[in-house]
Amino acid sequence: MKIFLVGNWKLNPETLAKAKNLFDGIEKNFKKIPEAFKKEEIVLCPPFLYLSEIKNLILKSRLKVHLGAQNCFFEEKGAFTGEISPKMLKSLGVKYVILGHSERRKIFGETDEVINKKVLAVLEEKLIPILCVGETKKEAGSWKREDGRMKEIERQLKNALKGISNSSFQLQNSLVVAYEPVWAIGTKNPCDPESAKKVLVFLRKFLKEIPILYGGSVNSKNAKDYIKVGFNGLLVGGASLDAKEFVKIAREIVL
Ligand code: PEP
Repeated sequence: MKIFLVGNWKLNPETLAKAKNLFDGIEKNFKKIPEAFKKEEIVLCPPFLYLSEIKNLILKSRLKVHLGAQNCFFEEKGAFTGEISPKMLKSLGVKYVILGHSERRKIFGETDEVINKKVLAVLEEKLIPILCVGETKKEAGSWKREDGRMKEIERQLKNALKGISNSSFQLQNSLVVAYEPVWAIGTKNPCDPESAKKVLVFLRKFLKEIPILYGGSVNSKNAKDYIKVGFNGLLVGGASLDAKEFVKIAREIVL
């Protein structure tokens, strides 16, 4: 299975000019490791407003980098002020959509039900959801028994994938799942790879051939450890805003 490296830029950088600079830096550094494009699936997820421009830069650069969005709405059109549909994203050349990110769940109050609607809408448009699941420290409950942690993850996963037939679950190319322990996101406190592996093994029972990524304070020093324990790639936030560091992570997991 190919290895994924997904950069989630979140609400960054502050201006289009800075976003273009970031892309230029990534392009420059990636040219030094062309192997990455043969083996890996590299995905950049800038804010909605920068998608078109970054797509143009990707086309001009001829880098084999894919475009992802960080969210979308589940309706196709209509009176939904401020929203963006999967079809709109597709028309811009987007291939992936991050859904169920803990920041969407916590700050914007997205429920399992809303996330499920979004997953279905994205699949309908033949885009690929990168579905995030992960426990907070509180939800994890007893770490010794792992009960709370696995229960929470199972609930998020099953609810998000409600209404999707088992056969489409097998479709390796229609879904990506990212295990992102909430307490590890943006905290410089990554989940220990062996502990993350327990969740990977648990998720694998349900997800069969579907790629499972790890996310949460990944950097070039710890990136390889998650691939070694069996994850199919990484979802990277903070470190994806540093072109050199992002490409260093790619180098660590490709070579
Ligand atoms: C994320 O936002 O999905 C994430 C993993 O962030 P960070 O790498 O900064 O922890």
